[in-house]
Amino acid sequence: MKVLVEIKQILPEERILCSVADRSAYSYDASFGEYMPDMVVQPRTALEISKLVQLANRHRLPVYPRGSATSLSGGPLPVYGGMVLDLAQMKDKCEIDRENMLAIVSPGVTTGEIHRKAEEYGLFYPPDPSSSHVCTIGGNLLENSSGPRGLKYGTTKEYVIGLEVVTPTGEIVRTGGKTVKNVTGYDLTRLIVGSEGTLAIVTEAILRLIPKPPARKTLIATFEEFVASGMAITNILAQGILPVAMEMMDQQCIRAVENFQPIGLPTDVAAMIIIEVDGHPLAVEEEIMRCAEMCKQAGASHVQVAQNEEERTKIWQARKNVSPALAQVGPTKISEDATVPRNQIPAMMKRLREIGEKYQLNLFVFGHAGDGNLHPVIITDRQNQAEMKRVEDAVSEIFEAAVLLGGTLSGEHGIGTMKSPYMEMELGTVGVQLMKKIKEAWDPNGILNPGKIFPRPGQTKVVLTDE
Ligand SMILES: Cc1cc2nc3c(=O)[nH]c(=O)nc-3n(C[C@H](O)[C@H](O)[C@H](O)COP(=O)(O)OP(=O)(O)OC[C@H]3O[C@@H](n4cnc5c(N)ncnc54)[C@H](O)[C@@H]3O)c2cc1C
Repeated sequence: MKVLVEIKQILPEERILCSVADRSAYSYDASFGEYMPDMVVQPRTALEISKLVQLANRHRLPVYPRGSATSLSGGPLPVYGGMVLDLAQMKDKCEIDRENMLAIVSPGVTTGEIHRKAEEYGLFYPPDPSSSHVCTIGGNLLENSSGPRGLKYGTTKEYVIGLEVVTPTGEIVRTGGKTVKNVTGYDLTRLIVGSEGTLAIVTEAILRLIPKPPARKTLIATFEEFVASGMAITNILAQGILPVAMEMMDQQCIRAVENFQPIGLPTDVAAMIIIEVDGHPLAVEEEIMRCAEMCKQAGASHVQVAQNEEERTKIWQARKNVSPALAQVGPTKISEDATVPRNQIPAMMKRLREIGEKYQLNLFVFGHAGDGNLHPVIITDRQNQAEMKRVEDAVSEIFEAAVLLGGTLSGEHGIGTMKSPYMEMELGTVGVQLMKKIKEAWDPNGILNPGKIFPRPGQTKVVLTDE
């Protein structure tokens, strides 16, 4: 193949993977669907990527940037074959600039590594996707990921002040820089963050760090009524307390977690919430007590404040175990993250219950409830075509419910392939057209991560069946 001959002039042969086994390993992510790339390449520098992208433009070859492939929306899937760029290999730089309170990182560094490095210097990088031990900062940047701490500290975009990128036409460009303030021209950094690998390939990032909060306290509250847990969350936020995290698990999630790795959670309650506050030790003490009180007022059957770091770690381990525990319940896991305004959390929880019952599906609900960012998960079997049809309808109804409640299709997992058919539902035709014009201006040949974000012509619904 002529393309391959040219790629061998850019990269050594051991960083070009073409065997079926190698390509299969890059054909999926943590979502639904499998697509075989024609080749996988492992560049190490922006210059190598620039040359590969220029070559891709000459040959009209689709290019799919990929971090650790933990995307839950199909972000890195090579839906039109072509070339996968394995950016998880680009991980040589993770520098802390103590004076400017910054981290300067390569795209393949894991989020967990940035947390560890920052803490060595008494600093703190807040975004904390539950996958942080494995996902890359590149993936976080392009999905604008967040996690439990998003409630108080916001999402990845709040911490990115500069990027080095390769454009879809192969130029190497820097956006932003080391200054916390920068209003020179359009904010290209913010445009690239959250663009799901469709506008640029990130080759370096400058991240803002903050001082590590001196104290934190965590509680766990259980509820006999599912919707009452949502009321507790809404009431606490309405009282002007801003916890770091307010995470919710329904009964099915609690049971799955206990089956997966028992830690003594009560399996007979309808829901459980985890609340964490941080800051000055005196303020933390007072706020956790007020949160406990408000949980009881909303109907909590039991409230327990962690007394030491060991108890706190155990509570968070339960939350971290939700995804792996659910993956063991059945062969196919469809994860959504439709998000609603905070005052609509109880209404959304009620709608999710109704949708699960209407379509008779195994629907689990957990997530960053304080953000209104619930994660309904349907455990099903893709071989069962009749059930998959019901899943398709249920997923559409979940998105409709979120948008009708003033919410959004995705709070953090991105659109990818899974939600693209619903873009017009939220943004309208003109909104989608404006975004398409940006994509066309940046990527005239449509080579960078094609098949993502925008629906294919006539596509109005996610299709999970083989028909
Ligand atoms: C168990 C589990 C828990 C999770 N918990 C959370 C959570 O709490 N919060 C959350 O937000 N998400 C969560 N996720 C989703 C996922 O981990 C995040 O979206 C993460 O940011 C993806 O990182 P990654 O390295 O795996 O990227 P990938 O999945 O490989 O890629 C994600 C997107 O980024 C693009 N991309 C990757 N690197 C680059 C680059 N350098 N340049 C250009 N484009 C690039 C890809 O093309 C793709 O569109 C979870 C996933 C799992 C499996």
